[in-house]
Amino acid sequence: MADILVYALHYEGAINKNSLGAVSEAANLASQIGGEAHAVVVGEGVSDDLAASLGNYGVTKVFRAEAPEGLAQPVIDVMAKIMSDQGHQYALFGGGLLGFEIGAGLAARLGAGVTMEVTHVNVADGKLTAERPILGDSSISTSSYKDKGIIIGRLNAFEANESDGGAATVEDVQVELSPWSTKAKMVQRGEQRGADVDIEGADILVAGGRGLGKAEGFELAEELAKAFGGNSAVAATRAVVDAGWYPYAAQIGQTGKTVAPKLYLAAGISGAIQHKVGMQSSENIVAINKDANAPIFEFSDLGIVGDLNKILPKLTEAIKAKKGG
Ligand SMILES: Cc1cc2nc3c(=O)[nH]c(=O)nc-3n(C[C@H](O)[C@H](O)[C@H](O)COP(=O)(O)OP(=O)(O)OC[C@H]3O[C@@H](n4cnc5c(N)ncnc54)[C@H](O)[C@@H]3O)c2cc1C
Repeated sequence: MADILVYALHYEGAINKNSLGAVSEAANLASQIGGEAHAVVVGEGVSDDLAASLGNYGVTKVFRAEAPEGLAQPVIDVMAKIMSDQGHQYALFGGGLLGFEIGAGLAARLGAGVTMEVTHVNVADGKLTAERPILGDSSISTSSYKDKGIIIGRLNAFEANESDGGAATVEDVQVELSPWSTKAKMVQRGEQRGADVDIEGADILVAGGRGLGKAEGFELAEELAKAFGGNSAVAATRAVVDAGWYPYAAQIGQTGKTVAPKLYLAAGISGAIQHKVGMQSSENIVAINKDANAPIFEFSDLGIVGDLNKILPKLTEAIKAKKGG
């Protein structure tokens, strides 16, 4: 029997969406290996309701520790103690930089195996194995664990599913923090721009590529999406996600999301095959590119050859004017 422990990050009274995905995934996996899925919440005065609500995503027990939330080292102290005392075999994280940092520290502390950027977890002979894309996502590597395993998902790899499991039991744990764990202080917290966009459910997507020039270039795409209003959002290519200009949650394509909005407006996107597979089912594709030979024009309903820095603001103004504001 092997239990799985999940770190549930929370902010302003709500559990992070990626953590909920990891909780659901852990509950599903635990049922396949004959174990239980548990969660851990860390913070000052975390309410019973918030902790117990994780039961709705399939965990039976939630460990609650009074320690600084959102910083890696205190969470490593907490999770290492729980895993050692309670004998959890695996820890699962929903992804994101904090998950990477905690997971790596936890693996070092426990002498466990660790796999990052995991896109799929399988069960083989009652044990977990983790798949992660390698070599520019052209191949998949599978990791198994000799003893304890730390599995850190790629952002949004695991889907949050509400179950009718009801409230989980909440158990308070006392943890003595390592001397170095209290050295860093949280100064400010905030959501990453665009991290919570629902691009799969949007009717209109303004997608930006390397042609936007820099991270700030995305403001042009965001302004246009705002002018469209309603159910519109901003999406991105992998090139700009890799460059850190926009979050992975907004990536369209082979290693991102597949979308089919009513309108897909591609600005400064070349139209590589790996991007095309994620958006080719869109009802209407409009492309803006300064290169008349860009492959995107081969599968666009309307192509505009020109500089997006001039076209996007004009389009935004025209839509605002049409809407009377
Ligand atoms: C295994 C694998 C998986 C991949 N998965 C994905 C994936 O999921 N999603 C994805 O998107 N990519 C993916 N890629 C990468 C893909 O091959 C392309 O490299 C990427 O899509 C290119 O992004 P881009 O169009 O933003 O950049 P570029 O190819 O550099 O294109 C930029 C475009 O902007 C135009 N431009 C520049 N300046 C302006 C301007 N001022 N006005 C108008 N136009 C301008 C240029 O003419 C050019 O066509 C993957 C690659 C591999 C090998």
